[in-house]
Amino acid sequence: MSVNLRIPGPTPCPEDVLEACGRQMINHRGPEFAEMIARQTSKLQKLCQTKHDFYIMTTSGTGVMEAAIVNTLSPGDKVLNVSVGVFGDRFGQIAEAYGAKVTSLKGEWGKGADPEEVARALEADRELKAVLVTHNETSTGVTNKLGEIAKAIRRVRPDILILVDAISSLGAIALPIDEWDLDVVVTASQKGWMVPPALGFVVFGPRAWQAYEKAAMPRFYFDVGKAKDYLQRGQTAWTPAVSVFFGLELALDKLEAEGIENIFARHHRVAEVARQGVKSLGLELFSDESVASDTVSAVKVPEGVDGVKLVKVMREEHGVVLAGGQTTLAGKIFRIGHLGWVFEADVQAVIDALRVALPKLGY
Ligand code: PMP
Repeated sequence: MSVNLRIPGPTPCPEDVLEACGRQMINHRGPEFAEMIARQTSKLQKLCQTKHDFYIMTTSGTGVMEAAIVNTLSPGDKVLNVSVGVFGDRFGQIAEAYGAKVTSLKGEWGKGADPEEVARALEADRELKAVLVTHNETSTGVTNKLGEIAKAIRRVRPDILILVDAISSLGAIALPIDEWDLDVVVTASQKGWMVPPALGFVVFGPRAWQAYEKAAMPRFYFDVGKAKDYLQRGQTAWTPAVSVFFGLELALDKLEAEGIENIFARHHRVAEVARQGVKSLGLELFSDESVASDTVSAVKVPEGVDGVKLVKVMREEHGVVLAGGQTTLAGKIFRIGHLGWVFEADVQAVIDALRVALPKLGY
Protein backbone atom coordinates (compact mmCIF):
# COMPACT_ATOMS: atom_id res chain seq x y z
CA MET A 1 0.00 0.00 0.00
CA SER A 2 1.44 3.38 -0.96
CA VAL A 3 1.50 6.02 1.74
CA ASN A 4 -0.29 9.34 1.38
CA LEU A 5 1.50 11.51 3.94
CA ARG A 6 -0.98 14.22 4.74
CA ILE A 7 0.43 15.86 7.84
CA PRO A 8 1.33 19.56 7.76
CA GLY A 9 5.07 18.83 7.64
CA PRO A 10 7.33 17.15 7.01
CA THR A 11 5.63 17.06 3.64
CA PRO A 12 6.35 14.62 0.79
CA CYS A 13 9.20 15.56 -1.56
CA PRO A 14 9.51 14.88 -5.29
CA GLU A 15 11.61 11.77 -6.02
CA ASP A 16 14.32 13.71 -7.86
CA VAL A 17 14.66 16.10 -4.92
CA LEU A 18 15.20 13.14 -2.61
CA GLU A 19 17.74 11.67 -5.03
CA ALA A 20 19.58 15.01 -5.16
CA CYS A 21 19.81 14.90 -1.35
CA GLY A 22 21.74 11.64 -1.73
CA ARG A 23 24.67 13.22 -3.58
CA GLN A 24 28.24 12.93 -2.27
CA MET A 25 29.33 15.66 0.18
CA ILE A 26 31.20 18.77 -0.92
CA ASN A 27 33.36 21.25 0.96
CA HIS A 28 30.93 23.63 2.63
CA ARG A 29 33.70 26.25 2.59
CA GLY A 30 34.54 25.71 -1.08
CA PRO A 31 33.48 27.41 -4.35
CA GLU A 32 30.70 24.97 -5.26
CA PHE A 33 28.83 25.61 -2.03
CA ALA A 34 29.42 29.37 -2.33
CA GLU A 35 27.78 29.43 -5.75
CA MET A 36 24.92 27.28 -4.53
CA ILE A 37 24.05 29.36 -1.46
CA ALA A 38 24.28 32.63 -3.39
CA ARG A 39 21.95 31.30 -6.07
CA GLN A 40 19.49 29.81 -3.59
CA THR A 41 19.38 32.90 -1.39
CA SER A 42 18.51 35.11 -4.33
CA LYS A 43 15.88 32.66 -5.64
CA LEU A 44 14.32 32.42 -2.18
CA GLN A 45 14.13 36.21 -1.86
CA LYS A 46 12.22 36.35 -5.14
CA LEU A 47 9.86 33.54 -4.17
CA CYS A 48 9.28 35.21 -0.81
CA GLN A 49 8.65 38.56 -2.50
CA THR A 50 11.22 40.39 -0.39
CA LYS A 51 14.30 42.54 -0.85
CA HIS A 52 15.23 42.15 2.81
CA ASP A 53 18.26 40.12 3.86
CA PHE A 54 17.71 36.38 3.74
CA TYR A 55 19.55 33.73 5.74
CA ILE A 56 19.41 29.96 5.49
CA MET A 57 20.18 28.29 8.81
CA THR A 58 20.43 24.63 9.67
CA THR A 59 17.64 24.15 12.18
CA SER A 60 13.96 23.32 12.44
CA GLY A 61 11.31 26.02 12.50
CA THR A 62 11.52 26.53 16.26
CA GLY A 63 15.19 27.45 15.83
CA VAL A 64 14.42 30.29 13.46
CA MET A 65 11.61 31.50 15.76
CA GLU A 66 14.30 31.70 18.42
CA ALA A 67 16.57 33.54 15.95
CA ALA A 68 13.83 36.14 15.36
CA ILE A 69 13.71 36.85 19.09
CA VAL A 70 17.33 36.70 20.25
CA ASN A 71 18.58 38.92 17.42
CA THR A 72 16.16 41.77 18.05
CA LEU A 73 15.29 41.88 21.77
CA SER A 74 16.82 42.32 25.21
CA PRO A 75 15.89 40.74 28.54
CA GLY A 76 13.17 42.85 30.15
CA ASP A 77 11.77 44.07 26.81
CA LYS A 78 8.02 44.14 26.69
CA VAL A 79 6.51 42.20 23.79
CA LEU A 80 2.96 41.49 22.68
CA ASN A 81 2.35 37.88 21.66
CA VAL A 82 -0.69 37.48 19.43
CA SER A 83 -1.61 33.81 19.72
CA VAL A 84 -4.46 31.79 18.29
CA GLY A 85 -3.03 28.33 18.90
CA VAL A 86 -0.22 26.03 19.94
CA PHE A 87 2.46 27.64 17.77
CA GLY A 88 1.45 31.15 18.75
CA ASP A 89 1.86 30.13 22.38
CA ARG A 90 5.30 28.69 21.57
CA PHE A 91 6.50 32.03 20.16
CA GLY A 92 5.64 33.69 23.49
CA GLN A 93 7.29 30.89 25.46
CA ILE A 94 10.56 31.35 23.58
CA ALA A 95 10.53 35.11 24.25
CA GLU A 96 9.82 34.43 27.94
CA ALA A 97 12.64 31.88 28.13
CA TYR A 98 15.05 34.66 27.06
CA GLY A 99 13.72 37.11 29.63
CA ALA A 100 11.21 39.18 27.65
CA LYS A 101 8.12 40.44 29.49
CA VAL A 102 5.38 38.89 27.42
CA THR A 103 1.82 40.18 27.26
CA SER A 104 -0.32 37.48 25.67
CA LEU A 105 -3.24 38.39 23.48
CA LYS A 106 -4.91 35.02 23.15
CA GLY A 107 -7.66 34.66 20.59
CA GLU A 108 -10.23 31.89 20.46
CA TRP A 109 -8.81 28.80 18.74
CA GLY A 110 -10.26 28.31 15.28
CA LYS A 111 -10.65 32.04 14.77
CA GLY A 112 -8.14 34.57 13.48
CA ALA A 113 -6.65 37.34 15.61
CA ASP A 114 -8.67 40.57 15.56
CA PRO A 115 -6.59 43.48 14.13
CA GLU A 116 -8.44 46.04 16.25
CA GLU A 117 -7.81 44.07 19.44
CA VAL A 118 -4.13 44.04 18.56
CA ALA A 119 -4.27 47.83 18.03
CA ARG A 120 -5.97 48.30 21.41
CA ALA A 121 -3.34 46.19 23.17
CA LEU A 122 -0.63 48.40 21.65
CA GLU A 123 -2.46 51.57 22.72
CA ALA A 124 -2.73 50.22 26.25
CA ASP A 125 1.02 49.83 26.63
CA ARG A 126 3.27 52.26 24.80
CA GLU A 127 6.41 50.53 26.06
CA LEU A 128 5.94 47.42 23.91
CA LYS A 129 8.99 46.79 21.71
CA ALA A 130 7.72 44.05 19.44
CA VAL A 131 4.67 42.13 18.28
CA LEU A 132 5.00 38.36 17.77
CA VAL A 133 2.42 36.92 15.42
CA THR A 134 1.76 33.66 13.58
CA HIS A 135 0.74 33.94 9.94
CA ASN A 136 -0.64 30.42 9.58
CA GLU A 137 -1.57 28.64 12.83
CA THR A 138 -0.97 25.01 11.92
CA SER A 139 -2.61 23.62 15.07
CA THR A 140 -6.05 25.02 14.21
CA GLY A 141 -5.92 25.44 10.42
CA VAL A 142 -6.22 29.22 10.59
CA THR A 143 -4.52 31.84 8.43
CA ASN A 144 -4.49 35.16 10.22
CA LYS A 145 -5.38 38.22 8.17
CA LEU A 146 -1.82 39.38 8.59
CA GLY A 147 -2.04 42.27 6.12
CA GLU A 148 -4.85 43.83 8.19
CA ILE A 149 -3.11 43.04 11.47
CA ALA A 150 0.13 44.65 10.26
CA LYS A 151 -1.78 47.73 9.08
CA ALA A 152 -3.47 48.09 12.48
CA ILE A 153 -0.11 47.70 14.22
CA ARG A 154 1.58 50.34 12.03
CA ARG A 155 -1.31 52.78 12.58
CA VAL A 156 -0.65 52.75 16.32
CA ARG A 157 3.10 52.14 16.38
CA PRO A 158 4.78 52.88 13.03
CA ASP A 159 8.19 51.67 14.20
CA ILE A 160 7.46 48.70 16.46
CA LEU A 161 9.07 45.41 15.46
CA ILE A 162 6.79 42.85 13.84
CA LEU A 163 8.17 39.30 14.08
CA VAL A 164 6.27 36.71 12.07
CA ASP A 165 6.12 32.93 12.25
CA ALA A 166 5.30 32.04 8.63
CA ILE A 167 6.60 28.51 8.98
CA SER A 168 3.58 26.79 7.44
CA SER A 169 2.67 29.52 4.95
CA LEU A 170 5.64 31.23 3.33
CA GLY A 171 5.99 30.03 -0.26
CA ALA A 172 2.47 28.57 -0.25
CA ILE A 173 0.14 31.40 0.82
CA ALA A 174 0.59 35.01 -0.33
CA LEU A 175 2.70 36.98 2.13
CA PRO A 176 4.10 40.17 0.61
CA ILE A 177 6.66 40.81 3.33
CA ASP A 178 7.92 44.22 2.18
CA GLU A 179 4.50 45.57 1.24
CA TRP A 180 3.15 44.63 4.69
CA ASP A 181 6.25 46.15 6.31
CA LEU A 182 7.19 43.09 8.36
CA ASP A 183 10.58 43.05 10.08
CA VAL A 184 11.46 39.41 10.62
CA VAL A 185 9.71 36.50 8.93
CA VAL A 186 10.71 32.87 9.40
CA THR A 187 9.87 29.57 7.72
CA ALA A 188 11.25 26.04 7.51
CA SER A 189 12.22 23.70 4.67
CA GLN A 190 9.90 20.80 5.49
CA LYS A 191 6.70 22.81 4.98
CA GLY A 192 6.00 24.53 1.67
CA TRP A 193 9.44 24.04 0.15
CA MET A 194 9.31 20.40 -1.03
CA VAL A 195 12.53 19.44 0.76
CA PRO A 196 13.21 17.46 3.95
CA PRO A 197 13.44 19.07 7.40
CA ALA A 198 16.77 20.72 8.33
CA LEU A 199 16.76 24.26 7.00
CA GLY A 200 15.20 27.35 8.56
CA PHE A 201 14.87 30.58 6.58
CA VAL A 202 15.10 34.02 8.18
CA VAL A 203 14.02 37.23 6.44
CA PHE A 204 15.62 40.14 8.29
CA GLY A 205 14.66 43.73 7.41
CA PRO A 206 16.31 47.13 8.10
CA ARG A 207 14.33 47.83 11.31
CA ALA A 208 15.41 44.42 12.60
CA TRP A 209 19.06 45.29 11.90
CA GLN A 210 18.68 48.49 13.93
CA ALA A 211 17.24 46.44 16.79
CA TYR A 212 20.06 43.91 16.38
CA GLU A 213 22.65 46.56 17.33
CA LYS A 214 21.03 46.98 20.75
CA ALA A 215 19.65 43.49 21.34
CA ALA A 216 21.20 41.97 24.46
CA MET A 217 19.59 38.53 24.70
CA PRO A 218 22.24 35.80 24.69
CA ARG A 219 22.85 34.48 21.18
CA PHE A 220 25.48 32.38 19.53
CA TYR A 221 24.35 29.69 17.07
CA PHE A 222 21.49 31.85 15.75
CA ASP A 223 23.43 35.12 15.53
CA VAL A 224 22.32 36.74 12.24
CA GLY A 225 25.38 39.00 12.36
CA LYS A 226 27.53 35.90 11.99
CA ALA A 227 25.21 34.57 9.27
CA LYS A 228 25.64 37.88 7.40
CA ASP A 229 29.46 37.85 7.66
CA TYR A 230 29.67 34.29 6.42
CA LEU A 231 27.14 34.71 3.62
CA GLN A 232 29.31 37.48 2.19
CA ARG A 233 31.93 34.73 1.74
CA GLY A 234 29.41 32.24 0.35
CA GLN A 235 29.21 30.24 3.55
CA THR A 236 27.11 29.57 6.59
CA ALA A 237 28.55 30.22 10.04
CA TRP A 238 28.31 26.58 11.05
CA THR A 239 28.39 23.29 9.11
CA PRO A 240 25.15 23.30 7.09
CA ALA A 241 22.85 20.39 6.19
CA VAL A 242 24.60 20.12 2.81
CA SER A 243 22.33 17.28 1.61
CA VAL A 244 19.20 19.36 2.00
CA PHE A 245 20.83 22.26 0.14
CA PHE A 246 21.32 19.82 -2.77
CA GLY A 247 17.62 19.01 -2.70
CA LEU A 248 16.65 22.66 -2.38
CA GLU A 249 18.50 23.42 -5.58
CA LEU A 250 16.04 21.27 -7.55
CA ALA A 251 12.99 22.21 -5.52
CA LEU A 252 13.63 25.91 -6.18
CA ASP A 253 13.91 25.22 -9.91
CA LYS A 254 10.51 23.56 -9.79
CA LEU A 255 8.93 26.34 -7.74
CA GLU A 256 10.38 28.99 -10.03
CA ALA A 257 9.14 27.19 -13.12
CA GLU A 258 5.62 27.02 -11.67
CA GLY A 259 5.65 30.67 -10.59
CA ILE A 260 4.66 32.03 -7.22
CA GLU A 261 1.14 33.11 -8.21
CA ASN A 262 0.43 29.64 -9.63
CA ILE A 263 1.78 28.05 -6.46
CA PHE A 264 -0.61 30.12 -4.31
CA ALA A 265 -3.49 29.26 -6.69
CA ARG A 266 -2.66 25.54 -6.53
CA HIS A 267 -2.68 25.58 -2.73
CA HIS A 268 -6.03 27.33 -2.77
CA ARG A 269 -7.52 24.80 -5.20
CA VAL A 270 -6.23 21.84 -3.22
CA ALA A 271 -7.53 23.37 0.02
CA GLU A 272 -10.95 23.77 -1.60
CA VAL A 273 -10.95 20.04 -2.39
CA ALA A 274 -10.33 19.41 1.33
CA ARG A 275 -12.95 21.89 2.53
CA GLN A 276 -15.68 20.89 0.07
CA GLY A 277 -14.80 17.23 0.59
CA VAL A 278 -15.19 17.22 4.35
CA LYS A 279 -18.45 19.15 4.02
CA SER A 280 -19.72 16.61 1.50
CA LEU A 281 -19.21 13.99 4.22
CA GLY A 282 -21.29 16.06 6.64
CA LEU A 283 -18.21 17.01 8.67
CA GLU A 284 -17.39 20.46 9.96
CA LEU A 285 -14.21 22.50 9.77
CA PHE A 286 -12.75 23.50 13.13
CA SER A 287 -11.71 26.90 11.81
CA ASP A 288 -13.95 29.73 10.71
CA GLU A 289 -14.46 29.56 6.96
CA SER A 290 -13.23 33.17 6.55
CA VAL A 291 -9.78 32.28 7.90
CA ALA A 292 -9.56 28.62 6.80
CA SER A 293 -5.98 27.88 5.83
CA ASP A 294 -4.88 26.91 2.34
CA THR A 295 -2.09 24.70 3.75
CA VAL A 296 -3.80 22.69 6.49
CA SER A 297 -7.43 21.87 7.24
CA ALA A 298 -8.53 21.15 10.79
CA VAL A 299 -11.70 19.06 10.92
CA LYS A 300 -13.93 18.39 13.93
CA VAL A 301 -14.18 14.71 14.84
CA PRO A 302 -17.93 13.98 14.70
CA GLU A 303 -19.93 13.08 17.84
CA GLY A 304 -19.53 9.46 18.83
CA VAL A 305 -16.41 8.82 16.74
CA ASP A 306 -13.07 8.12 18.43
CA GLY A 307 -10.66 10.61 16.84
CA VAL A 308 -7.53 8.68 17.77
CA LYS A 309 -9.00 5.49 16.28
CA LEU A 310 -9.98 7.35 13.11
CA VAL A 311 -6.39 8.48 12.52
CA LYS A 312 -5.24 4.89 13.18
CA VAL A 313 -7.73 3.31 10.77
CA MET A 314 -6.90 5.86 8.08
CA ARG A 315 -3.23 4.96 8.42
CA GLU A 316 -3.52 1.20 8.76
CA GLU A 317 -6.34 0.48 6.33
CA HIS A 318 -6.04 3.31 3.81
CA GLY A 319 -2.39 4.37 3.90
CA VAL A 320 -3.46 7.94 4.66
CA VAL A 321 -1.38 9.57 7.36
CA LEU A 322 -3.31 12.38 9.03
CA ALA A 323 -2.31 14.59 11.95
CA GLY A 324 -4.34 14.53 15.13
CA GLY A 325 -5.14 17.51 17.33
CA GLN A 326 -2.51 18.98 19.65
CA THR A 327 -2.79 19.64 23.42
CA THR A 328 -6.45 20.32 24.31
CA LEU A 329 -7.56 19.44 20.77
CA ALA A 330 -6.22 15.86 20.98
CA GLY A 331 -8.96 13.46 19.83
CA LYS A 332 -11.29 16.39 19.03
CA ILE A 333 -9.95 17.32 15.60
CA PHE A 334 -7.89 15.76 12.86
CA ARG A 335 -5.80 17.73 10.41
CA ILE A 336 -5.17 17.25 6.71
CA GLY A 337 -1.91 18.76 5.54
CA HIS A 338 -1.96 20.17 2.01
CA LEU A 339 1.21 22.14 1.43
CA GLY A 340 4.31 21.79 -0.64
CA TRP A 341 4.29 19.14 -3.33
CA VAL A 342 0.55 18.49 -3.29
CA PHE A 343 -2.18 18.20 -5.89
CA GLU A 344 -5.97 17.84 -5.91
CA ALA A 345 -5.85 14.03 -6.25
CA ASP A 346 -3.76 13.67 -3.06
CA VAL A 347 -6.49 15.32 -1.03
CA GLN A 348 -9.38 13.73 -2.91
CA ALA A 349 -7.87 10.38 -1.88
CA VAL A 350 -8.15 11.46 1.77
CA ILE A 351 -11.83 12.32 1.34
CA ASP A 352 -12.49 9.01 -0.44
CA ALA A 353 -10.80 7.09 2.38
CA LEU A 354 -12.73 9.00 5.06
CA ARG A 355 -15.96 8.07 3.27
CA VAL A 356 -15.11 4.40 3.84
CA ALA A 357 -13.47 4.68 7.27
CA LEU A 358 -15.98 6.85 9.12
CA PRO A 359 -19.00 4.50 8.94
CA LYS A 360 -16.83 1.69 10.36
CA LEU A 361 -16.28 3.87 13.41
CA GLY A 362 -19.96 4.47 13.98
CA TYR A 363 -20.54 7.57 11.84
N1 PMP B 1 5.28 27.27 13.87
C1 PMP B 1 4.39 26.72 13.03
C2 PMP B 1 3.28 27.57 12.51
C3 PMP B 1 4.51 25.38 12.66
O1 PMP B 1 3.63 24.82 11.84
C4 PMP B 1 5.58 24.61 13.18
C5 PMP B 1 5.75 23.14 12.82
N2 PMP B 1 4.59 22.41 12.82
C6 PMP B 1 6.48 25.22 14.05
C7 PMP B 1 6.29 26.55 14.36
C8 PMP B 1 7.62 24.48 14.63
O2 PMP B 1 8.50 24.08 13.66
P1 PMP B 1 9.54 22.88 13.91
O3 PMP B 1 8.74 21.69 14.32
O4 PMP B 1 10.18 22.74 12.54
O5 PMP B 1 10.49 23.32 14.95
